[in-house]
Amino acid sequence: SDHDLFITTTIGVALYPNDGESPKSLIESSRSAQKQAKANVGKNNYQFFSKEINEKVVDQMQLELEIHTAIEERQFNMFYQPKLDVGTDSVLGAEALIRWEHPTKGMISPDDFIPVAEKTGLIVQIGKWCLRTACKQAKLLLEQGVPDSLRIAVNVSAVEFAEKDFVKTVVEILKETGLQARHLEVEITETTVMNDLDESRKIIDDLRYQGVTVALDDFGTGYSSFNYLGKLNLDVLKLDRKFLSEAMGNERSRTLYAGIVAMAHEIKLKVVAEGVETQTEYNYVNSLNVSEIQGYLLSKPIDASRMTTFLLAPESRDFLAN
Ligand code: C2E
Ligand code: CA
Ligand code: CA
Repeated sequence: SDHDLFITTTIGVALYPNDGESPKSLIESSRSAQKQAKANVGKNNYQFFSKEINEKVVDQMQLELEIHTAIEERQFNMFYQPKLDVGTDSVLGAEALIRWEHPTKGMISPDDFIPVAEKTGLIVQIGKWCLRTACKQAKLLLEQGVPDSLRIAVNVSAVEFAEKDFVKTVVEILKETGLQARHLEVEITETTVMNDLDESRKIIDDLRYQGVTVALDDFGTGYSSFNYLGKLNLDVLKLDRKFLSEAMGNERSRTLYAGIVAMAHEIKLKVVAEGVETQTEYNYVNSLNVSEIQGYLLSKPIDASRMTTFLLAPESRDFLAN
């Protein structure tokens, strides 16, 4: 009807007889190759079938199926990594980190399954579970006598954040678990906000209006855009572990790290130094007056019961003594 359409093509190629001896298996192979071609940047290209690629596609599909089962069979568990509040020299918070205990494959890293869960949309369901579990746990900790300044941080994926009712979901979960919003922190990344900066700003403002703390995660790698920092009303800036290790390695990165901490302070952001593994790193970030410190030096992520001990018995951490 007089409209111009601009279309692109993605082609998967399979060759007889190596890639399949029957029409059915040839088509399957070409589909698999096409799926891979679509996953490549830019699309609009072609891809020959290869056994290696096929294995990847099959693995991916297998993982998708297994995530479904994992949800049904409750194979997910929440771990918590304590954060040291430098001002009060006490542990007032923790980051909730999901763990998948696969019945045969053992522990599967979130770095491996979160991207698959995002692609299939399953992350929305998983994300709700994460929020609910962390909120319940925080409530329990408060009831057990953990100081009232407790704050549990939960990672929110870009797909969840973009859901129409995201803030509503958060509010509902807070209500359902009886946790006050000030005990919850939400961690998002730059990739989450960059899709639609204006919309992101609204969601962040909404969350903060509800009383939830908002942190920008993994800063110092990737884009590290000042544009986002200028436009979004954030509470916390989390500096990435890789950024810290680079800062320890060379003078120029060290200057950048210190500069970003100073700049964040100027715009009233709290800074969390992530991935503090050594006393040298600790001394360094401490000298920059960061607000909170997180990393293996203080504690690895631990299960809920160990975290309870950690929070209730400060003497269980003695690393700062040396
Ligand atoms: P992240 O949000 O940057 O989380 C920090 C990661 O660094 C965690 O890995 C933690 O175990 C690790 N880490 C903490 N301190 C140190 C340290 O001192 N040294 C080293 N080498 N590593 C340290 P983990 O638990 O494997 O999580 C990986 C990523 O998966 C997270 O990165 C986050 O992006 C994602 N993720 C984890 N849990 C969730 C979740 O519940 N929801 C969503 N959407 N994503 C999650
Ligand atoms: Ca995080
Ligand atoms: Ca991080």
